[in-house]
Amino acid sequence: MAARLAFRAPLPEGPPLMKVSVPKETAAGESRVALVPEVTQRMTRSGLEVVLEPGAGAGAHHPDASYQEAGAEIQDGAGFSGDVVAKVAPPSAQEIGSLRGGGVLVGFLQPLTATDTVRALADARVTAFAMEAIPRITRAQSMDALSSQATVAGYRAALIAAQELGRFFPMLTTAAGTVRPATVMVLGAGVAGLQAIATARRLGAVVQAFDVRAAVKEQIESLGARFLELDLGLEDAEAAGGYARQLTDEEQQRQRELLAEEIGKVDAVISTAAVPGRPAPLLVIEDGVRNMKPGSVIVDLAAETGGNCELTEAGETVVKHDVTIVGPLNLPSSMPDHASQLYAKNVQSLIELMVSDEGRLELDFDDEIIAGACITRDGEIVNEGAKQAVGAAA
Ligand code: NAD
Repeated sequence: MAARLAFRAPLPEGPPLMKVSVPKETAAGESRVALVPEVTQRMTRSGLEVVLEPGAGAGAHHPDASYQEAGAEIQDGAGFSGDVVAKVAPPSAQEIGSLRGGGVLVGFLQPLTATDTVRALADARVTAFAMEAIPRITRAQSMDALSSQATVAGYRAALIAAQELGRFFPMLTTAAGTVRPATVMVLGAGVAGLQAIATARRLGAVVQAFDVRAAVKEQIESLGARFLELDLGLEDAEAAGGYARQLTDEEQQRQRELLAEEIGKVDAVISTAAVPGRPAPLLVIEDGVRNMKPGSVIVDLAAETGGNCELTEAGETVVKHDVTIVGPLNLPSSMPDHASQLYAKNVQSLIELMVSDEGRLELDFDDEIIAGACITRDGEIVNEGAKQAVGAAA
């Protein structure tokens, strides 16, 4: 494997090297941007050319001038002109039309569910890399955009729960009496769930959490929360890559019944359970909501993929059985500054793997990260999961 450009030491004067371009995101509600000025500067200092569409960073509070100071160019209509196009949200059909055949796209692509997008990228002969498909190995940790954005979502979810609840999170002792701390249950203790636990704990709530993967018990407890033991009769539901497997119908049914009782005891539920490439597992049925105390809150982070709660309405806040149920979409975009900062670092780390010693685009498909993250190439869908999803949808 060729040694990689480190993006640290300035290169000698010379013609511009690889060009990275950043379009302005067009998806509704998307405020993030793929590169922030700080990361842009590291790239331009190492000799790369970076060009952005006017206003590309505006949603994340980065004016055009801050990119120009970082050595980038701002050019109308140049968002798709790079050897590598860096994006956040999956490209629209129109954006795919703007990509060059043989050009490289890096961004979230939802490769297991957005089958039309994947097909269109292959047809347009784009070499597309999905941030979701980067193998979650130690060497790729700095590229792990699923984790960086889930961290933002989990934090935000806990704040929403605190905001919507008509009670304090912390215990208070006041002249007017003592207030008992709120009780919060977090369902699914992956990256988002663990961050939600940590945030709710910092706000003073008493937190318990449940996950089908036994390995997370220790992580939950290390954050000062209690692991909720549910007698589902399953050994462990950890599958390949540290993800959860889908539970059987019987296991799911049992889980819903047991949870319906347990959530009746807490003030707020934050649900984050997910199984990659599948609709969100249904964990909270209407009976469970009915069991909750009046004024309780559910924040359903899985709203985007169908919801962990039966009564969730994606993108809405509804009140059912006197319980407020929040179904937020794209929470990372609601904290665009830090979400973009972390994402840009993830993108930079991936792009570093794509640059030769001479600063030219060089894709090494023997590298498991490059091979694993690549979804389409030379007109073909090369990622097994994406290929199966497109086949099943056809
Ligand atoms: P995810 O978003 O796919 O799922 C969120 C959580 O929901 C998971 O913890 C999952 O176990 C849980 N879940 C699924 N079905 C459930 C059900 N029926 N009931 C309750 N919980 C359910 O997961 P994620 O946050 O992306 O992380 C998943 C794993 O990936 C973790 O084990 C994490 O350690 C691992 N990971 C590894 C790396 C790395 O090595 N670089 C980086 C990040 C995450």
